[in-house]
Amino acid sequence: MSVDIQPSHIDQIKQTNIGLVYRLIDQYGPISRIALSKKSQLAPASITKITRELIDAHLVKEAEFPDLSFRGRPAVGLKIDSKGWQFLCIRINKGSVVFGLRDLNNNLRVEEELPFSLSLNQSFLDCIVDEIDDFFFRHQSCLERLTAISITTNAIIDPNNGIIHSSPYYDIQNIPLGTFLHQRTGLPTFLQHGITAWTIAESLYGAGENCQNIIQIVIDDNVGAGVMTAGQMLHAGNHSVVEIGHTQVDPDGEHCYCGNTGCLETVVGIKNILVRAHRLAESHPDSLLYSISPLTIDSLCQAANQGDLLATNIIHDVGERIGRITAIMVNIFNPEKILIGSPLNGAQNILYPAIQQQIAQLSLPGYSQQVNIVATRFDNTGTLPAASLIKQSLYSGELLIELMQG
Ligand SMILES: [Zn+2]
Repeated sequence: MSVDIQPSHIDQIKQTNIGLVYRLIDQYGPISRIALSKKSQLAPASITKITRELIDAHLVKEAEFPDLSFRGRPAVGLKIDSKGWQFLCIRINKGSVVFGLRDLNNNLRVEEELPFSLSLNQSFLDCIVDEIDDFFFRHQSCLERLTAISITTNAIIDPNNGIIHSSPYYDIQNIPLGTFLHQRTGLPTFLQHGITAWTIAESLYGAGENCQNIIQIVIDDNVGAGVMTAGQMLHAGNHSVVEIGHTQVDPDGEHCYCGNTGCLETVVGIKNILVRAHRLAESHPDSLLYSISPLTIDSLCQAANQGDLLATNIIHDVGERIGRITAIMVNIFNPEKILIGSPLNGAQNILYPAIQQQIAQLSLPGYSQQVNIVATRFDNTGTLPAASLIKQSLYSGELLIELMQG
C-alpha cells in the first residue's frame, strides 16, 4: 500500500465497495460470492471479507438457491437480511404530514396521513416531534429496530445540514430539523426536497430504472424538475432544485409567491389550469366542461380523452409550454428519458405529443431523436421518495457503515 494514501481515502474506498456489494445483493440476491466477485470486479478475497462483515451485522444472510450448473444441487448465495431493521419516512405536505414505517426491503408496515398545522404557542419542531411521538405510541406493536429517519418536503432546504430554510406551506425560517431529530433519537436523519427524492425513487424502482440520464418534469400544484446526469442527482447536495416553475412565461401575468410575475407555475400549476378551464368553460356552452361540476383535473383529462375541443386545447397548451422549457433542458442534459409526474398523465395522449413536438422543433436533432417521454411510475403521494433516500445511502455505503458500527 502506498504511504501517500490517506486513511480517509481508504475509508472512502471501503465504504464504496461495501455499498456496491450490498447493492448487487439487493438487486440480484440470492447471488453466489463468485457471481458477486464478477459483477463487482472485486477480488474474491475482498468479497469474502465484505460479505462476512455484512453477515455479522445481520444486514445480509446466506440462502440456498437452485443452481442448474450443479445438476440441481442447491448452491449457497447471499440475500438481504431485512428482518427487524426499520426506518421512519416522513412527508411534510401543505396541511398534512404522512408517516411511513418501512423495513430495509422497503416493505411498508404502516402508512398514515394526518392533518398538520402549526399552533400559535408551539414551534414547528415541537409540533413535528409531537406527531412523531404520537405515531410511535399508536404503532408500538409494529416497532422493531429503528435505524434511520428520512424526510421529504417541497421547500427550500439544505440537505447536507438537515435545515428547512423556508417553506411555501408554513411560516418558518431556518429550521434545523435534521440535527434536532438526530439529537433526540441518535438516528441518522435524511432531508431532501420532494421532487429530488421522487426522481431518485423513479431511478431506483420506477420509470427511470437503469437509466443514467433522466429529466423528470413535475406538473402539479408545484411545477419543477429533477435532473439525474451520469447517475448523479443535480443539486442533491445543496439547497437548490431545478426551478423551471419560476421561469417567466407571461410578463403581464399573475403575481407569483416567489416575487416575480407570470412564472410558468402561475400558468401550468394544476390549480391555475383549473381556474383557466373554469373561466373558459363559461363562454363555451358547447364544451363538456361547461356542465361538469365541480371541474377537477381528472374530469378535464376525461373530457379531453373524449375529444372535447376546449379540454384538448387547454392540455395541449400546457404541453407546449412545458415542451418549450424542456427542449432547453434536453440541449443541456441530453437525457435518455423524460419522465412526467403529473395528474395530467390521465391525458398523456394529448400532453406528450405536444411536449414532444416542441422538443423536436427546438432542440438539437441528435439529442431530441433519442428522447423517450414516459409517465412516472409513482404518483406525488406517500413516503416512497423518502424511503429511496435511505436506499441511496445504503447503496453509497454511508448508512451501511453507520449501521455496522451500531
Ligand atoms: Zn415564481
